[in-house]
Amino acid sequence: MNVACPICHDAFVCSTHAVTTTCGHMFHHNCILQWLERSSTCPQCRNRCNQSELVKMYFHMSSNYEASNAEDNVGSLEEKLDELTLKIRQQEEILKTIEARTVQVTVGQKRMDEGPVEVEDEVPRTQNTLKRDLENRIEECTAGLGERLTNIQRDTSATFSTAMGVLEGTHFSA
Ligand SMILES: [Zn+2]
Ligand SMILES: [Zn+2]
Repeated sequence: MNVACPICHDAFVCSTHAVTTTCGHMFHHNCILQWLERSSTCPQCRNRCNQSELVKMYFHMSSNYEASNAEDNVGSLEEKLDELTLKIRQQEEILKTIEARTVQVTVGQKRMDEGPVEVEDEVPRTQNTLKRDLENRIEECTAGLGERLTNIQRDTSATFSTAMGVLEGTHFSA
């Protein structure tokens, strides 16, 4: 017997708990129960379908049971093989992704390993640039400072002579 449940696509075997709907479609008992929790129609023909109307099926083992059972086994083994092949393909895809990432990480690691060498090369250059910048700024500051200092000196002496004048005036008036 090579009949499969339309819901899970697993083949019916003699030990299966199979049921039929009033429209005559056959399912695993558990499969159709789960289906009927969400729907009230037959998944095959959309006829109204009620859990209480399901009829349990009993398979009679024929005298050539072993032959038919072997056929069932071959069917389910083929299905399992398909499933496993699919899983292997999925694993292979995952493995490819991991390999690709590993290559990326290795390249990144290499760059990091090479990194310090490049940085060392850049250090003297950066130091020189900083030194030049600093010197320029010091020059600018000093130039401005000299001018300011002269101004302050002029202001101070002016204030000083004014103060002296005031003091002298005070002295005279006393
Ligand atoms: Zn099923
Ligand atoms: Zn039906």
